[in-house]
Order: sequence, then structure tokens, then C-alpha cells
Amino acid sequence: MFGTFGRVTISKSRLCSRPLCANDAEVLLLFEYETRLVELRGLSGVRDSNLLELCTNHADTFRPPHGWSCQDVRQTQLTAESDESRYAR
Ligand SMILES: [Zn+2]
Repeated sequence: MFGTFGRVTISKSRLCSRPLCANDAEVLLLFEYETRLVELRGLSGVRDSNLLELCTNHADTFRPPHGWSCQDVRQTQLTAESDESRYAR
């Protein structure tokens, strides 16, 4: 018998950047200073310290700084990968 220690947490996922939040980060916030635009993207494999990583809850309640606009490109990404998500249903 193999030992059943349940799921060994291989921390592939990252935690939300908000203090006291223990949710997994799912959304990447990309700050484009030139255009004052905050882009919300799906988390990619690349980790960049300039990017803020938030859980979906915090990403949804995120307000861009004054004078900045916010663009959610997660839907665009989802559509591009829709083959997989359709399969999941
Ligand atoms: Zn969070």
C-alpha cells in the first residue's frame, strides 16, 4: 500500500499579494505606466516582481489608482483558450 498522505501540496500556485489573504493568486495585474493602464490578466507561468498577483476576489474589487484606467483582458484570454474550457463542461 502506498502511504496516503492526501494531496502533497506542490506549490505551483501562488498566493494573493494582499496581506492576510490566503487565497491562491489567479490574476496578474500589469501596470503600464506610460499609458496609465492596469491590465488584468490570467496568471501566467512567469513570475515578475513588478506584477501584482491577486486572487479573483481581490482582482474583482480592485480599483485602479486615480487617473488610471483598468482593462480586464482575462476574457480575451479565455476565448483564446476556449477549447479547453469547453471540454471541461
Ligand atoms: Zn486575495
